[in-house]
Amino acid sequence: MINFKIKITGVVQGVGFRPFIYNLARRCHLNGYVLNDTHGVEIEVEGTKSDLEKFILRIKTSPPPLSRIEQIRIKKCPVKGYRNFVIRESENKETKTVLVSPDLAVCEDCLDELFHPQDRRFGYPFSNCTNCGPRLSIVKDVPYDRDKTTMSVFSMCPECKREYHDPENRRFHAQPNACPVCGPKLTLMNNKEKVINAADSIASTIKLLQQGSIVAIKGIGGYHLAADATNPVAVSTLRKRKYREDKPFALMVKDVRTIQQFCQVNPLEKKLLQSVSRPILLLRKKDCQLIAPDVAPLQKSWGVMLPYTPLHHLLLSGSDLILVMTSGNQSDEPIAYEDEEAFQRLHQIADYFLFHNREIYRRSDDSVTRVWMGTEMILRRGRGYVPLPVKIANNFRKHILATGAQLKNTFCLARDNFAFTSTHVGDLENYETLDFYKKEIDRFKHLCSVIPKVVAYDLHPEYLSTKYALALTGLEKIPVQHHHAHIASCMADNKIDQKVIGVAFDGTGYGEDKAVWGGEFLIADFKEFKRAAHLKYIPMAGGETAIKHPWRMTASYLFACYGEDFLKMDLDFVKNLDLNKWNTIKKMLDQNLNVFPTSSLGRLFDGISVLLAWRETTHYEGQPAIEMETWADENEKGKYPFEIKGGNDILIIHPELIILGVVEDLLKKHRKSTIAAKFHNTIAQMTHDICVKLRKEYDLNMVCLSGGVFQNVFLLNQTYRFLTKSKFKVYTHHQVPPNDGGISLGQAVIANRRI
Ligand code: ZN
Ligand code: ZN
Ligand code: FE
Repeated sequence: MINFKIKITGVVQGVGFRPFIYNLARRCHLNGYVLNDTHGVEIEVEGTKSDLEKFILRIKTSPPPLSRIEQIRIKKCPVKGYRNFVIRESENKETKTVLVSPDLAVCEDCLDELFHPQDRRFGYPFSNCTNCGPRLSIVKDVPYDRDKTTMSVFSMCPECKREYHDPENRRFHAQPNACPVCGPKLTLMNNKEKVINAADSIASTIKLLQQGSIVAIKGIGGYHLAADATNPVAVSTLRKRKYREDKPFALMVKDVRTIQQFCQVNPLEKKLLQSVSRPILLLRKKDCQLIAPDVAPLQKSWGVMLPYTPLHHLLLSGSDLILVMTSGNQSDEPIAYEDEEAFQRLHQIADYFLFHNREIYRRSDDSVTRVWMGTEMILRRGRGYVPLPVKIANNFRKHILATGAQLKNTFCLARDNFAFTSTHVGDLENYETLDFYKKEIDRFKHLCSVIPKVVAYDLHPEYLSTKYALALTGLEKIPVQHHHAHIASCMADNKIDQKVIGVAFDGTGYGEDKAVWGGEFLIADFKEFKRAAHLKYIPMAGGETAIKHPWRMTASYLFACYGEDFLKMDLDFVKNLDLNKWNTIKKMLDQNLNVFPTSSLGRLFDGISVLLAWRETTHYEGQPAIEMETWADENEKGKYPFEIKGGNDILIIHPELIILGVVEDLLKKHRKSTIAAKFHNTIAQMTHDICVKLRKEYDLNMVCLSGGVFQNVFLLNQTYRFLTKSKFKVYTHHQVPPNDGGISLGQAVIANRRI
């Protein structure tokens, strides 16, 4: 007889780990106990050597599907003579390091019951088990137990209790366990707060949606606004009321077969669609008129997800609906998740509300992802992914908080070899978002057991995340340059810890010289970077205003190339240009008033895009560039000339020849699709040529591509092709976004090296 004490860490709570151990121990004829503690799972087992070995092998080779084991530690202890195997009460300890599971899509077993007329949960929209259901969104504290979730207010009926205490049952210790007798319930209301006493509120909601109504539906991490995606009137009404001109809406579709009617889906995409994290996946549009074009105008892709809660399944399989499921908010506000607040904020958008009384403790948006070159590239990290950490090669030397950037903000908490990147917080410009940001940092610290001793932040003095960091007391403070953070995040994402050539292309980042950077080549490691090449500075008239009104950039580029002669050219851009407005800009440029030098590639994209097709204002970040990508003809191989100047220390990319080339093609009335493609090819070629020069000078062969511009698949593909053809090793993003959502991870790993 031997006694083993076993400690297992990782995602081992709320994923059916204890019943798995219980049943396994009994099958292996072992006695002892299993319990959840604040580090994970603790097991003590006694039996023969061969039974114990069998037991441990099974834990290693076939743990519960949703668990993630980080470490198994085994200690031989004196035999105590246990008589049976039991599941003990959870233990509270001072330090908590257990990893909480993300919210999980409803499992097949629960779905079977949901549609089985004899089952007691037939048609019950809050069914769940140890393999599925809400987790992070309802967890207030660890260890993960019902009384520390928002389910604590529902007391289980005898039948649910029996399941909960039966180790042979799928719902053994399923903390959100519920049924129609004892669990949460739906309420359907109109936007005047009048309850609609329907016998079946799901059937009524389906009918309302089919009639073209907009319904706010409470989900896992917040409210969605739902509308029939095949009804153009419903979709355009939603746009108008939400003040969202043309930013794409996500779709929820009942199954992959239906998705394939209007999207191309490859096997990996199918797998991601069906994964327990159920992200919104960007899928290439097929030529099909099924979906109202206004759902995602001027886009090559639809953003599509499968249903992930029983409620979604009931709404979709009871109908042939394809739904727009967009975040419950107005324009750029954060998603609404508290009932009272949701009603206040959404009653002018939604005609009806489908409420339920299971409280959402922590809001989260749907994650957005795509498949690129056979791997996942996440674009927005939220529900289903958070709080799973990014694992890094070396341990963090101290607990670190990294406060992230201003737009698409996430923050990051780090300890041991874990970087916990927060859920997508959003743009820190409005009060609600900032409020959520501050609150969530405190709660996330608690959840991830991080007590920061160091805070890392962006160099930009006006970022609210920077101001937040600077106001903290008692922490070591480490500022990090924006593009260095982009490259470091790409390195950490790929487990690289050595010097690389970093290509950081984005819209805006504060430079060490206070200029607006964004077309940068860095020689970087985690500790430091050298700016080795960049796009030539061009004046950005009015700063931020030039982002909102991208024609200002076009005018600035044309003025730099031709002086005022560009006004005499036969260009659509010139015809659309308001001369009064131009004169104001010219004055600013001439007198260097309220003008900021920028090397941003995002701005060059804006400028060229508006030169090809007039646009007065931008409705969402990166819109002109995103649209230009959709125009580009994939068969076009042409390029424009460009110049790289400078000596040994720093290379400057001069874009004038590119602009001259584009203008020439426009005057020759070449197609927009040709010019857009040639422009993309040129940027890829330029990137390649600079990397070749830097490889020679610095003897480096690894290239990390990061920054929001690399969400552009056309550019990414071309750049990747050119670089790999010249035998570079090229890396981009998988676990954190290439956009500013990835900044906080980069800040954390850099700070760690600089402590
Ligand atoms: Zn289940
Ligand atoms: Zn019950
Ligand atoms: Fe950026």
